[in-house]
Amino acid sequence: MTPEKMFHDLLGLGLSWMVEECVRDGRYAKVVLRVKETEHLWEEERCPKCKGRVSCYDHTEPVRWRHLNCFEHECEIECRLPRGRCASCEHTYRVRPPWEGKSKHFTKEFEAFTLVLAREMPMKKVGEIVKETDTRLWRLVLSHVDAAHGEADFSGVTCVGVDELSRRRGHRYVSVFADLPQKRVIFATEGKDQTVWDRFSEALQAHHGDTDRIQDVSMDMSPAYMAGVANNCPSAEIVFDKYHVIAHVNEAVDAVRRREMSMGGYDARQQLKETRWVWLKNPQNLTAKEQKRLNRVDQQNRCTAKAYQMRLTLQDIYLLHEVSAAKRKLRAWCRWVRTVARRHVSLMFAQMVKCANMIEVHLNGILAHWRHRLTNGFMEGLNSVFSAVKRKARGYRSPRYLIAMLYFVAGKLRLPAT
Ligand SMILES: [Zn+2]
Repeated sequence: MTPEKMFHDLLGLGLSWMVEECVRDGRYAKVVLRVKETEHLWEEERCPKCKGRVSCYDHTEPVRWRHLNCFEHECEIECRLPRGRCASCEHTYRVRPPWEGKSKHFTKEFEAFTLVLAREMPMKKVGEIVKETDTRLWRLVLSHVDAAHGEADFSGVTCVGVDELSRRRGHRYVSVFADLPQKRVIFATEGKDQTVWDRFSEALQAHHGDTDRIQDVSMDMSPAYMAGVANNCPSAEIVFDKYHVIAHVNEAVDAVRRREMSMGGYDARQQLKETRWVWLKNPQNLTAKEQKRLNRVDQQNRCTAKAYQMRLTLQDIYLLHEVSAAKRKLRAWCRWVRTVARRHVSLMFAQMVKCANMIEVHLNGILAHWRHRLTNGFMEGLNSVFSAVKRKARGYRSPRYLIAMLYFVAGKLRLPAT
């Protein structure tokens, strides 16, 4: 068997193409496989416009596609592609070879391999391993993600969660929509105002879905999102998800800590220093060191410790099974927060009182959590998805790249796209 015949078999080229020559491009230590079409191609090839018979018109200049490495050497397929001409409609076109991937520089196999790597590591690292430029690799990933996302079917979507991903700390947002039962990201768009819902509605329709069919929306207490739901999803009930409610209270605990640090005198500062992250955790998750820091805080008299108790109590309310009991307890919680706040000077609990007000105003949507028993897990999980996406797209945080990476990581798409 000649090397040419062997490569022909390995590439699975069939009857229509043959390896004419395999050479080592010495300068770059590359293996180049020169491929050309056979007569058989014209028996099978049909006009893409009218399905008529096609004959060879001419050939392009040599084109190269990066293929999987041959041992440690880079390998490329080179071909002067035939251009076909239709006998019926005279349409002339470049024949698409069977090895060509979605992006013009790579073979299908190389693309599939690169997508596997991209799942596991940041794009920069992928570039180092396969020795390709970031630009080309991004183009590869984008073409597959676009194609696969374009094909995705959202006809069964009735229960969505929405959250915002901040591209940089504190500003520039991307709104992310997830199909909660299917645990997949289905749409993302720049911004966090109510117009993101109009764009979501359009996207849903483009994928055989309909915002009329949406029954539940799980989200944060954002007025913009609420307006967006009201305008676009007539049948939807809003559920303020547990994750966001607790997150607001966590922020309030931190606000109490900061206020107490600045206004509480020497003792307060001594006790509270280096405790910022301690208050964000649950007691059972504290390390020995953190537990020690917590122990040195006066649990009876420190406002921060009190606020922390409030957060833990609120979390416990979420363990209740009955919505009626939850309603009673949430109201009692709000009263408790206000009573404690009144007993303290300097608006120490101001942020906590804000939370209590917010919970009362949105009580119905918060209680919907009990009525719908939504899978809140995925909403909370979105945050780790966001971190993974940012890590992968390090250095490429334009919305286009971030959104493609979101679909790639969490869209449950069929990749590589065909
Ligand atoms: Zn034709």
